[in-house]
Formats: sequence, C-alpha cells, structure tokens
Amino acid sequence: MTETSKTVGVAMPREVEQLQGKPCRSCGTLLPLDARACSCGALTDNATFRERAEFEVKQWRAYKERATAESA
Ligand SMILES: [Zn+2]
Repeated sequence: MTETSKTVGVAMPREVEQLQGKPCRSCGTLLPLDARACSCGALTDNATFRERAEFEVKQWRAYKERATAESA
C-alpha cells in the first residue's frame, strides 16, 4: 500500500513539469516546451536568431507605422 503511494509521489512532479511548459514572457500564457512563439506574437527561447531578427523588424515597422499615423 505505502509502496504504491510512494511511486505516485515520485512520478507526479515530472509529469506536472511536462504539462506546464514555459510561461510566455509577454502575456504569461503557458506554452509547450518546444513552442517557438506564443499566440500573442512573443518569441520563446526556442526561436532561432533569424526568427528573433524578423520579429524585431516587424515590431520596428509597426512602431514606425504607428508613429507616422499619429504625427499626420
Ligand atoms: Zn504570449
């Protein structure tokens, strides 16, 4: 009886870790550990350098468009 509960106690933490994944740095949504980007558009540590660079360019363009629209 006690042996069964011990086995469950050891197996639980690992399973929980796998299910939780990583929280998004931007919105806090839990993402799979192998996810490269969140639905909110933020990239995770799994994103490659190129993906990060493209993301930065996109953000910069969006910012510039906003700035242009506001000043007009
Ligand atoms: Zn997010």
